[in-house]
Amino acid sequence: MINRRKFIINTVAAGAGLITSNKLLSQVEPEKKEPVIPSQPRYTKGLVISTWKHGLAANEAARKKIENGGSSLDAVESGVMVSEADPKVTSVGYGGLPDRDGRVTLDASIMDEKGNCGSVAFIEHIMHPISVARLVMEKTPHCMITGKGALKFALANGFKKENLLTDESKKRWEDWMKENNYKPDINEIHDTIGMLAIDKAGNLSGACTTSGLAWKYHGRVGDSPIIGAGLYVDNDVGAACATGKGEAVIKICGSFLIVELMRNGISPQKACETAVLRIAAKQRDYSQFQVGFLAVNTSGEIGAFSLQKGFEYALYSDGKNAMHESDYFLKVK
Ligand code: ASP
Repeated sequence: MINRRKFIINTVAAGAGLITSNKLLSQVEPEKKEPVIPSQPRYTKGLVISTWKHGLAANEAARKKIENGGSSLDAVESGVMVSEADPKVTSVGYGGLPDRDGRVTLDASIMDEKGNCGSVAFIEHIMHPISVARLVMEKTPHCMITGKGALKFALANGFKKENLLTDESKKRWEDWMKENNYKPDINEIHDTIGMLAIDKAGNLSGACTTSGLAWKYHGRVGDSPIIGAGLYVDNDVGAACATGKGEAVIKICGSFLIVELMRNGISPQKACETAVLRIAAKQRDYSQFQVGFLAVNTSGEIGAFSLQKGFEYALYSDGKNAMHESDYFLKVK
């Protein structure tokens, strides 16, 4: 039974918190525009946007698919596969930093223009979890398969079992074990690749794949394989993806929130800013971690915003593929 005195104290404390939250949120009261009309003109020149430096090489692979008339779904899958296979990218796939038990466990999700989606979480030994996620979407009645079940499903569908822990990642884990201090560093131990693309038919798809936070608890799943958190696509509106501390993104259904804001006529940029501010307003320790969002709408307008300095993204549009620095929230520490 709730003790009355405690209840009053808690209510007052919650009220005080709300004042701060509402004040912050009111600073970003989004521009009021007309809700999105599905028949508005669509961008058909081809566009790919993805998170972090390794997005540049990934965008190249995606760009080739799109320029050859391929679908945005094929583009995002082949794009993020580049990061998954690159041992120098220590936050995705092969070479990813392991969990606190020294195991490389991967999360991935994919979503197409028809609103179909598939994901795998906590999967081990598979170089391309994004392709397993796509198979979940296309060959099963499910949206998500996890852990040993995901590995079994992958092996049954012809994927090879591989050791994904490189010598370099093993060495970093061994060094971490000496200290065993579980404290995520901003921008240091997370660099998921999230990718959004528009093909020449004007259709949108997205993909997201990661080894998650380094030194995480064994079995921990982040935002990346959770549809609506790490990734969301609505072909009538736009798409969004996330990187950074997954727990913070899950708490606000980040990518879904951004797409819904865009559905109400808000620009991708303002939508990303609003999602970041929602985190800052609701999560008291927001200065201790990083979160970054990318978004695109059906007209090819993009948005990028992060909590901290340091978030960068690769954008292929108008025939050019280049890195850009995202604007961010926490300008004064
Ligand atoms: N969002 C990912 C996670 O929490 C981390 C990242 O962006 O790399 O698993």
